[in-house]
Amino acid sequence: MTDYRSVRGMVDILPEDSLLWQRLEAVSAAVLNQYGYQEIRLPIIETTQLFSRSIGEVTDIVEKEMYTFADRNDESLSLRPEGTAGCVRAVVQHNLQQTVQKLWYQGPMFRYERPQKGRQRQFHQLGVEGFGVATPDLDAELILLSSALWCGLGVKELLTLEINSIGSPQSRGLFREALVEFLSDHRNALDDDSQRRLETNPLRILDSKNPNMQALLGGAPTLVEFIDDESRDDFATLLEMLDAVGQPYVINNRLVRGLDYYNKTVFEWTTDALGAQGTVCGGGRYDGLVAQFGGRVTPAAGFAIGLERLVLLLKGLGRHVTPQTDIYVVTAGDAAQLHALPRIETLRQALPDQAIQLHLGGGSFKSQFKRADRSGARFALVYGDSELASESVTLKSLRSEGEQVTLPDNQLAEFLAESFAEKIGE
Ligand code: ATP
Ligand code: MG
Repeated sequence: MTDYRSVRGMVDILPEDSLLWQRLEAVSAAVLNQYGYQEIRLPIIETTQLFSRSIGEVTDIVEKEMYTFADRNDESLSLRPEGTAGCVRAVVQHNLQQTVQKLWYQGPMFRYERPQKGRQRQFHQLGVEGFGVATPDLDAELILLSSALWCGLGVKELLTLEINSIGSPQSRGLFREALVEFLSDHRNALDDDSQRRLETNPLRILDSKNPNMQALLGGAPTLVEFIDDESRDDFATLLEMLDAVGQPYVINNRLVRGLDYYNKTVFEWTTDALGAQGTVCGGGRYDGLVAQFGGRVTPAAGFAIGLERLVLLLKGLGRHVTPQTDIYVVTAGDAAQLHALPRIETLRQALPDQAIQLHLGGGSFKSQFKRADRSGARFALVYGDSELASESVTLKSLRSEGEQVTLPDNQLAEFLAESFAEKIGE
């Protein structure tokens, strides 16, 4: 075994899985397109400040999960831990917020976390963001879009929509005060993490995975009591819209999300099919972020899907995409292969939808046919000595025993096109 291994938490996606990823990507691109969202491609590296300012200095991500380094010019840069900050940066930089923007992006994100099932140090997110709409129809559309994606992938029944309103920054401030007062009275019952957060970022204590903390929080004041009227009205409108399409939801008053920039609506799609890593998608509104990055005040909302967790769900359902081979070409030796080569190129152009593999590396007919069988192809195409002499080719069915036909070279493409068309009509 080699001494070289991938870096801990950074995972290779092997051919046996990449087809499933491609299918996932194709389904999401189609759904996003249908809803009128356009792709934006963003750099993987941004300035460290971009993340610390937007995600929040006192968050897990910025405090202990970022891959931060100084470049050769001593500028502090970070591998992106999420996509919203970079997307907002690009919107402001290119002045896109003049008009309503509905954007999506996809790619690797980096967080220094303890690797486990559904948690990696390099993972992938599909992010969707809408800019320039203050009304909750945007929130509703984002949720329905994600739901359409679950339907397209056949995982809808595994996922639950949890939703909450965290109100305006002002109402959150009032809530924070009340929460700190309550938790200070129970300081001795707090675990170390929560004691620390009580000083730095008390709202994050609500996110604690420690069951003792969750029990204690049962008696704590809740954010709902502090929500401002506008946030409350918008939340009611959003729920009305979800009701109108029959989209079920669970209102989770504990849901606050770990990033600082959210306001009003926050939501997560969760599953119990993945153990502790049960959140497949999270998002919400972030009306203050664009202005914070120096742009004109622009309301916005978005969400991000953890694609590894989605792939785990699909695999758990036994979804597997097998590679396609339609035709496998076997030849009787060097001269026959040389003869076949240009003909196969022409055939590939004539039948762009068929996967046509030419056997490589020589070998006996027997071994070549074994490969042809294993490829799953429907036909083997045989260029033997007699075919070579008569400018013809033999087409052998690999599905029905003994069925074969020898055709003049120039009739092959048409014959195959008809055979494959019949298959579709079957
Ligand atoms: P978690 O509570 O699981 O750490 P998070 O709140 O940190 O999630 P977000 O920042 O909201 O996650 O990112 C959106 C989604 O990205 C998550 O819901 C999850 O599906 C996925 N995700 C986040 N961190 C990782 C990771 N380290 N490995 C794999 N997927 C991740
Ligand atoms: Mg996290």
